Amino acid sequence: MAKIIGIDLGTTNSCVAVIEGGEPLVLPNSEGSRTTPSMVGFTEGDERFVGQQAKRQAIINPDRTVYDIKRLIGQKFNSDVVKHYKASLPYDIIEATNGDAWVSVNGQEFSPQEVSAMVLKKMKQTAEDYFGEEITEAVITVPAYFNDMQRSATKEAGMIAGLSVRRIINEPTAAALAYGYGKERDCNLIVFDLGGGTFDVSLVSMHGGVFEVVATCGDNQLGGEDFDRAILDFLLEKFESETGVDVSGDKMALQRLKEAAENAKCELSTLTETNINLPFLAVDENGPQHLSLSLSRSQLNDLVYELVERLEGPCQTALKDSKMSTSDIDDVLLVGGMTRMPLVQEKVQEIFGVKPSKGVNPDEVVAVGAAIQSGILGGEVREVILLDVTPLNLGIRVAGDRFSAIIEKNTSIPVRESKVFTTTEKNQDMVSITVLQGDDESASANQMLGMFNLTGIPHAPAGAPRIEVSFEIDTDGIVSVSAKDLKTNVSQSITVEGTSGLSEEELRRAVNRNK
Ligand code: AMP
Repeated sequence: MAKIIGIDLGTTNSCVAVIEGGEPLVLPNSEGSRTTPSMVGFTEGDERFVGQQAKRQAIINPDRTVYDIKRLIGQKFNSDVVKHYKASLPYDIIEATNGDAWVSVNGQEFSPQEVSAMVLKKMKQTAEDYFGEEITEAVITVPAYFNDMQRSATKEAGMIAGLSVRRIINEPTAAALAYGYGKERDCNLIVFDLGGGTFDVSLVSMHGGVFEVVATCGDNQLGGEDFDRAILDFLLEKFESETGVDVSGDKMALQRLKEAAENAKCELSTLTETNINLPFLAVDENGPQHLSLSLSRSQLNDLVYELVERLEGPCQTALKDSKMSTSDIDDVLLVGGMTRMPLVQEKVQEIFGVKPSKGVNPDEVVAVGAAIQSGILGGEVREVILLDVTPLNLGIRVAGDRFSAIIEKNTSIPVRESKVFTTTEKNQDMVSITVLQGDDESASANQMLGMFNLTGIPHAPAGAPRIEVSFEIDTDGIVSVSAKDLKTNVSQSITVEGTSGLSEEELRRAVNRNK
């Protein structure tokens, strides 16, 4: 049987694992590292570096080094999220013809799917080097809070990389699988996942080999990069107040500051004080200007206080949605590099009243879970059943810009729900429906997945036609919609318009470009 690999496609780092002889195994890349930076560097010519090599040249090549692409995948160019990153990321972000956010490097345009595919290809290659054979199938993880467009786009990335994506699974669910694999004990587990770009929290109930996700919540726009940004802003201010030089427009200086900020943040997880030294950060009429300062853990804690406070809301929502209280929680599992930060660990303990478990490697646990899911699909792992949920309400727009949920968040997937629609006018032969995903009562505050028209409705008095529209979420969390005229039993084909995603032509071009 063909090998299926498990890939954690992270905002900052990616990791690949497999099941070998019933045991999960993380595979080291060609540089010997078990995780690979999710970065792609382009040279002026046609060359391209992925991973550590891309990271190494980022400082001298800031506008041709693409990172954090997971923040842009499945996003519309004019969304607030993209506006935010357009201001802070050093490379060019442009609007594609379908309204999605793409990147432009060396005059060439790339979808976030294609850039992600370059990272996935490196992970695929890592597995091929290990097995000495071609690998064509994978399970890929995504943040639980990813919406339909982000999930579909991740699948497209897999396709461009030459991988058939057998399953998309949620990162916290994967982590819970890795944590509970081979353990007999029944328990209620909180998976607290704070990575480079996103925050997810899930409550997973594990009983008799069944892993049941009871509730999940999160913030798609909160992660380590925001912590780095808070430190970077502090450094920019400090440098300007000491030297009078504002380097916020200098891409190379910004990249150096960003790296220094991240390094300081990581060091302050084990040290109480660290030094930041950036010689020759700028040159003005007085000559070269250097940045040199020491930063303490308590200063860092002050800088990121508000970000850490933002972790509480989704945790409380997940508890409320699961109808459990902190006394029902047996264990807390920390996932994602950011959970090494002492202040984050203190906050977790304060919220749940449980000392977080440190028995697993937060950088690898998601890929290990993806590998176990691959093992379930491939038949190598038998004793485990996984029941996941949809993290967001799925519904439609109704009169007065209100949102009517058809499938409620935290419903087990796969799921299919139907709703009967009718007409409001005599002989009306068309109904327009807007499909939305989100948590807000107001329709326009949610993510529009698309619009479709039900056409060809036979002439009839107002309110007489009965058209059943079915909304379906599959095991990957991906949405589809179909419709049936209940009088004639004729199915209507529905084309959902306005969705993201690549056209067939764009997909083909990307596949060819990355062969
Ligand atoms: P992930 O997406 O799980 O790879 O998480 C990456 C994030 O974790 C990045 O923002 C890193 O800077 C951060 N990180 C990694 N190690 C540490 C550490 N020791 N202390 C604090 N943050 C860390």
